[in-house]
Amino acid sequence: MNLNILKEISDLKKQKNAVILAHNYQIPEIQDIADFIGDSLGLARKALEVEAEIIIFCGVHFMAETASILCPDKKILLPDLDAGCSLADSIDVNQLRDWKKKNPGAVVVSYVNTTAEIKAESDYCFTSSNAVKIVESIDKNKEILFLPDMFLGAYVQRKTNRKINVWPGECHVHAAMTYEEIKNLRDEYEETEVLIHPECACGSQAMYYSEKNNDKKMLFLSTEAMINRAKETASKNIIVATETGVIHKLKKNSPDKNFIPINKSATCKYMKMITVDKVLETLKSESPEVKVEKYIAAKAKTAIDRMVGLV
Ligand code: SF4
Repeated sequence: MNLNILKEISDLKKQKNAVILAHNYQIPEIQDIADFIGDSLGLARKALEVEAEIIIFCGVHFMAETASILCPDKKILLPDLDAGCSLADSIDVNQLRDWKKKNPGAVVVSYVNTTAEIKAESDYCFTSSNAVKIVESIDKNKEILFLPDMFLGAYVQRKTNRKINVWPGECHVHAAMTYEEIKNLRDEYEETEVLIHPECACGSQAMYYSEKNNDKKMLFLSTEAMINRAKETASKNIIVATETGVIHKLKKNSPDKNFIPINKSATCKYMKMITVDKVLETLKSESPEVKVEKYIAAKAKTAIDRMVGLV
């Protein structure tokens, strides 16, 4: 990495009272300059907690929107406004309104990977680390509209043993991961442990086989929980079923382990749009800023507060 650029970033951060928050799927160079690295929930909580005036959000657009809703007094900058999310794009607000009309009285439970407009039409917002808990907290007699990830929806249905209506959306990266790939890697490596993000298409089959065979070496975890699990486990070979960016942090935290991505090409092109040069430009120009219209932010806030555990 160019040391002059790093020095410039560090000086500008001090001068402008700015911090860099980065998602676990960011490129290693971004993770290395970040003040905090985490999953969507961790980043949302950190955005609230930091005393900085400016947050350089190295992630994708919906994450910066969430931070902006939670912290209206901070300037939230996203180094590339084109950093979107195929999962968030799998439902728009008109589709959600139609779905609600067809299911009056249902409780709307939306993944954090949604636009602010969708969150404004939702009762609860969740991340992969608290999806099961949030669904379990809802009155059993209430119907639930769960969106937009169908694989995460199937996982939550199975875990809660509750029938929920699931939107048929998916993330193009996690949808490409198959159970076959896990099986092949387990044949190739000895004494493996498998860490699976519940957004993955391989999840249902993996869950079926792990329950059937009482296989305790197949775990379904959020990216943050994967990092903690990797530190604890005695297994040396760990198969990771999620976006490959998380492997950088896994290796840093557990250098004695061998991390094997389920699929080396499982990368999110949106997450990789953020570069060190763009971060520098963003710091200098204090743009592009992500701001959510006040009335949408006010409507979305209750659902987001429930996600971060404020209410
Ligand atoms: S990995 Fe999938 S869910 Fe995550 S930001 Fe990229 S497209 Fe969206």
